Amino acid sequence: MSKKFDEHLIHTYNRSLVLTKGEDVYLFDDKGNKYLDMGAGIAVSALGYSNDEYKQALKDQIDNVIHVSNLYYTEPSVKAAACLAKGSGMDKVFFTNSGAEAVEGAIKLARKYAFVKNPESKGEIIAMNHSFHGRTMGALAVTGTEHYREPFEPLIGGVSFAEYNNLESVKKLVTKDTCAIILETVQGEGGIYPATEEFLQGIRKICDENDIAMILDEIQCGMGRTGKLYAYEHYGIKPDIMTTAKALGCGVPVGAFAAVSKFADAMCPGDHGTTYGGNPLATAAVCKVYEIFEKEHIVEHAAKAGEYFYQKLQALAQKYPSHITQIRGKGLLLGMEVTCKPADIMQKALEKGLIVLSAGSNVVRFAPPLIIEEKHIDMCCDILDEIFQAM
Ligand SMILES: *Cc1c(COP(=O)(O)O)cnc(C)c1O
Repeated sequence: MSKKFDEHLIHTYNRSLVLTKGEDVYLFDDKGNKYLDMGAGIAVSALGYSNDEYKQALKDQIDNVIHVSNLYYTEPSVKAAACLAKGSGMDKVFFTNSGAEAVEGAIKLARKYAFVKNPESKGEIIAMNHSFHGRTMGALAVTGTEHYREPFEPLIGGVSFAEYNNLESVKKLVTKDTCAIILETVQGEGGIYPATEEFLQGIRKICDENDIAMILDEIQCGMGRTGKLYAYEHYGIKPDIMTTAKALGCGVPVGAFAAVSKFADAMCPGDHGTTYGGNPLATAAVCKVYEIFEKEHIVEHAAKAGEYFYQKLQALAQKYPSHITQIRGKGLLLGMEVTCKPADIMQKALEKGLIVLSAGSNVVRFAPPLIIEEKHIDMCCDILDEIFQAM
């Protein structure tokens, strides 16, 4: 079966199911099996699969115009940029097609700012161990997992890695050529590690003192996932540049990097561009997502549901201390550190009609649609209970 499907797809994923349809917070496979979705297409489908208003907005935009080039303004892109700026506390926005591209843009912006100040600047970047910023050459260069990077070197140069949540390790790497410090507000792929308040505020201070761009990657933890629209709101700080994607379009491929004017204004016409980025279809989705988030209080709901989920997972951890060693995360981005292989849990869950994700080497990750209700969380935890019971 999978042989047939893999005939013409480059083998970069070990896929299992053939998914054909989504409904509410459930997915269906080609055999009609139903799955409770605690992965949301990797933190993307925040509104689940049946939001009629969202779907109608896309259909309307398709009837209007799907694409025009970035040589022209469009109403959806101007409006979406205003929504994102307002929501993030940034001043200016550039839309991309993916998260990795948003990271590329953020890096270019930081380097351009440093270049304008001093054309001799080496544009060095400090990134974090166990970080994940995407698979393109620039994003990969700041991704803190050696085996993702090694086969593709040389990547962009001038990158050094500090320990996440260890301020001293960052301070040691700052030089006169440092142009940016890039990190996730909550490390996602690396194993669901939220930043400590001391760490983020400390980085903010280092960046202020040295006129370095603080880049926060909110591609996974942003858009309400942690119970705030952007996760850095938990910390009382603001980055200079931030990246967002995943749930930004709730399924339509779209990302963005946004910045405060001081940095954003370093870019001038010709410095950066994209054919598709921010096209009317993508930005119509963004506009509608922001509208629905506000109207339906999605972020507040995520905070409450996340608290409930966390308590339920804690109860499981207490029941199975030899299998579950820690629960951590924020809002509806939760990690369950396990002593077995996360892939085994994922497989057993699938067999019981539950989709969960993994992160790092020993973490089961939950990133459900933000509209998830307590009854779904109960269902998920009952299935996990059965799995650990049988182990
Ligand atoms: C997923 C992710 C990316 C990459 O996004 P793509 O859309 O897959 O390119 C970058 N940073 C973080 C934190 C992510 O979770």
